[in-house]
Amino acid sequence: MNWLEIAVILMVGASFGSFASLLIWRLPRELPWVSEHSHCTACAHSLGVKDLFPVFSWAFSGGKCRYCAAPVSWRYPALEVFTAVLFLGIFYQFGITLEAGCLSLLSVGFLVMFLVDLEHYILPDEMQWAVFVLGGALNYIRGFAWTDMLGGALLGLFVGAGLQNGYRYLKKRDGMGTGDVKLLAVAGFLLGVSSFPVYLISAGLLGVVTAIIWRLLGRGAVFPFGPALVLSLWWLLFFSNDSTQLISLLSKYSMQ
Ligand SMILES: [Zn+2]
Repeated sequence: MNWLEIAVILMVGASFGSFASLLIWRLPRELPWVSEHSHCTACAHSLGVKDLFPVFSWAFSGGKCRYCAAPVSWRYPALEVFTAVLFLGIFYQFGITLEAGCLSLLSVGFLVMFLVDLEHYILPDEMQWAVFVLGGALNYIRGFAWTDMLGGALLGLFVGAGLQNGYRYLKKRDGMGTGDVKLLAVAGFLLGVSSFPVYLISAGLLGVVTAIIWRLLGRGAVFPFGPALVLSLWWLLFFSNDSTQLISLLSKYSMQ
């Protein structure tokens, strides 16, 4: 990649980071997420072009709103920088290809789901649909068989509904949200039948880690399962080849 390409990718990535912030704020509050103008959450003043430039607007205004001087969270520029670097990493790894474009947009969706569920215990339907469509496009580019995708979606739905009802039956209370069940179906659609068992294991392990961290932070016994589901789907989509190699390696050793 040359310098111009790197600069463009960083700028596009930062802009999507800023779009992710907007979604993270608006989706759980059920605000319209495209039509409405961006405005300061403290004084409601509409934001102009000068206020919407990723990272630089925040840095030049000293982390304050230009109209009411209310502090603007460091999370905005942090997310913009993170997304910019993430995009650069993806395009570096996969080249300037449609596959890299799909993976970058999917990553924005995953980031939004991860952070919204962590804070609000919600996996917004809009993001489920976005990830479903983008994942379908990615699988099409990768030449994935649609029968495997459909089978995976049904398997995910079946396993998700089973876990939800099983938990309810055993514990007499809800343990898994409907958003989690939908995400399992979406994950099955993206990964296919063959990778789904690995996905379940890795999501389950990450779920246990989340539960432990949640207790250590003193946030109670009810923890969001979405971040674990999102994170394992994310890494499996990136390293799908590696994970199939891992499975064949493991099965080879277990046969011996
Ligand atoms: Zn303001």
